[in-house]
Amino acid sequence: MNTRTAIQLGAIADDFTGASDLANNLVRAGMRVVQTIGVPTGPLDADVDAVVVALKSRTVAPDEAIKGSLAALAWLQAQGATQFYFKYCSTFDSTPQGNIGPVTEALMDALGVDFTIATPAFPDNKRTVFKGYLFAGDVLLNESGMQNHPLTPMVDANLVRVMQAQTRRVVGLIDYAVVARGEAAIRERISQLRAEGVGVAIVDAISNEDLHRLGPALKDMPLVTAGSGVAIGLPANFGLAPSSQAGKLPAAAGLQAVVSGSCSLATLRQVGHFLATGRPAFAIDPLRLAAGEDVLAEVLAWAAPLLADGPVLVYSTAEAQAVKSVQGQLGVEDAGQLVERCLASIARGLVALGVRQLVVAGGETSGACVQALGITQMQIGPQIDPGVPWCHAVSAAAQGGLHLTLKSGNFGTDDFFSKAFTALGESALP
Ligand code: ADP
Repeated sequence: MNTRTAIQLGAIADDFTGASDLANNLVRAGMRVVQTIGVPTGPLDADVDAVVVALKSRTVAPDEAIKGSLAALAWLQAQGATQFYFKYCSTFDSTPQGNIGPVTEALMDALGVDFTIATPAFPDNKRTVFKGYLFAGDVLLNESGMQNHPLTPMVDANLVRVMQAQTRRVVGLIDYAVVARGEAAIRERISQLRAEGVGVAIVDAISNEDLHRLGPALKDMPLVTAGSGVAIGLPANFGLAPSSQAGKLPAAAGLQAVVSGSCSLATLRQVGHFLATGRPAFAIDPLRLAAGEDVLAEVLAWAAPLLADGPVLVYSTAEAQAVKSVQGQLGVEDAGQLVERCLASIARGLVALGVRQLVVAGGETSGACVQALGITQMQIGPQIDPGVPWCHAVSAAAQGGLHLTLKSGNFGTDDFFSKAFTALGESALP
């Protein structure tokens, strides 16, 4: 018999590393959390307070994003969730077609609610909203580089306008002056907006205190839409307080490895730092992969005798100039896929050699590795750096389960690759 208690919060994230980011904030605020890769086919097999379903719906066609999100909602409802959280990027990545507006609207319709909030504010990551305008660091969103994003260029920082272009519901604002006055004032403003026919309200927040003031006002709101920041104020509504128990994972064992396919600046520094420690590292040359050489066998033969002495690094991480040159010869997409496929088989091969503590760097690279390892569900553990927790997954490829951390490109300090293993060891201490 399944003795599991019902989950309380059900979240739907529009991308993979964004899901971990949300899960990480929930764990830090006291919830036990599982992240699933896509919508599970069976019932939840874990006793947790919240589940984050990771979709890949940020840039697909709106109809497809709606379909996936509604399927996730139905599954989360079946697991007993009483409040739902639609999680998107802290830079509100979307186009006038969506998908934040259309998905929000579809979830509202499915839940039969006439009001929700929307705010990507995440002050810990320097995303603040003031008078409805989103700032990334010290500049407006549309001056932050996001105006040049290849898929979701953000050319307007006014989120009321941005959201209004994506939805038929009327969009309003709960501004900082209201948020500063706390729960009662926020609730009063919500009543006022509803009476005016507003369906979605952008909420200002410039500090974590604002998010903690917002949390209690969302207690009985069936649907919340936000970046990961709002999550810090929600677990308290379920009677939960921050506790190291929330992120407790099974004790770590086994060998250690890092697989890095990210070419982001932070990852370049992290690879440089690892090389400087003198630990063994193997650089993957995409042109050798394109030439059909058996790099996989070579890497595994190289790693096998080294693993017993400590972590090894396998990386395709390269400077922008080198990446451009490879992309020029192989094509951007083909080069990416070739490298992702190779790193994913290497991750699988390393796990077959006994690796049970695996660091993966790169969003797309993480997706490929998790897929190759047949992982469908991860228990979220302690934070290593903001937005990056250790996780534990069951995998047919890893007897006894596997600890892994999926680091999106620009997250993490320079010593992340060494620090991650030390942090995991320390987290097991009583
Ligand atoms: P990030 O999170 O930093 O964006 P991703 O893993 O999402 O990292 O994306 C990096 C992409 O670059 C992947 O598709 C990867 O396969 C590709 N890639 C990695 N190394 C190289 C390289 N040396 N040359 C060309 N493409 C590469």
